Amino acid sequence: MPPTPSLTVRHRDGIHFERDGDPLPRVVADARSAVGEINVVSHAHADHTFRTAPETVVCSSETAAIAEARTGRGFEFVEEVPGIELVPAGHVVGSRAALIDHQEPDGSARRYCYTGDFSVRDRCHLEGFDPHAVDADVLVMETTYGLPDYRFPSQDDLQAEIRDWLRERDDRPLFLFGYSLGRAQKLQWLAREACPDREVLVSESVRDVNRAIAEATDGDLEFLGRPYDSLRGLRDEIVIVPTNQARADWLERAVEREGGLKAGFSGWAVDTSFRYRGNYDETFALTDHCDFDELVATVRAIDPDVVYTHHGFDEAFADVLETEFGYRARPLKRDQTTLEEFC
Ligand SMILES: [Zn+2]
Repeated sequence: MPPTPSLTVRHRDGIHFERDGDPLPRVVADARSAVGEINVVSHAHADHTFRTAPETVVCSSETAAIAEARTGRGFEFVEEVPGIELVPAGHVVGSRAALIDHQEPDGSARRYCYTGDFSVRDRCHLEGFDPHAVDADVLVMETTYGLPDYRFPSQDDLQAEIRDWLRERDDRPLFLFGYSLGRAQKLQWLAREACPDREVLVSESVRDVNRAIAEATDGDLEFLGRPYDSLRGLRDEIVIVPTNQARADWLERAVEREGGLKAGFSGWAVDTSFRYRGNYDETFALTDHCDFDELVATVRAIDPDVVYTHHGFDEAFADVLETEFGYRARPLKRDQTTLEEFC
């Protein structure tokens, strides 16, 4: 059996990689209050960025720009430090997984891969995470959709379904719901591809993210949705709204008044309850995370000695990895140490 790695991995505020006896964790990833020697920010979703900026931040330039646009707070960052390499995670623009090299007491080197939120699919304007390019001894992975119930159609089929749905409803406004960073850009991309002559309207929060992406990529990636002020007198516009507004009274009134239809986009669309929760007319399993099969394929491609799972169906997925695939795998429970279970 391979040796147990000597960095302890803990789920606290973010994921900590700790050395025994050291006052500071060597690396802290995606914490709200970052306290590591090195602090990794995998992407600019609010649950992955800190409230107060720590000293050494490692993230992509896109993530730094988007986080600043969303929070109004800039911070110093670097894209690499000795012993840590960032690789594309395929979740949202700028998202990165971190490869952390650590020298063990016996002189051997071990590599830890922290995925952050990730997707292996190439989709719309984004390339997926490539697990075949990653060589790691320890894999720390998010497992949002870690149950076999969550298997999604191929990306080509999904995008074709969405395109057809948009094109076939060209006589009324369509309201599409997705997070301001991530889904909203893919929906703008799909709307432009499917219906180049229809106007795309977006909320201000989506517009702010669009601007930050355009600046961070020197204009290579531009999304041209126009911010709406009132949603009156619509004809066939495609309106992109943050998911948290799906059941808002003002929005429901606008959809009814304008004769619109609502569509929701999420991996949770596999559950029929998703449609009712958002009061959607249609739903699509368009997601920025891996489905169950893609999570399994990721582990098999990297083939680590140890797997730690967190978020979503972390326990069930670790169990599948152990019982069906023979991996040493454990869910990272918040504020518990799991390393000794391997000793
Ligand atoms: Zn995320």
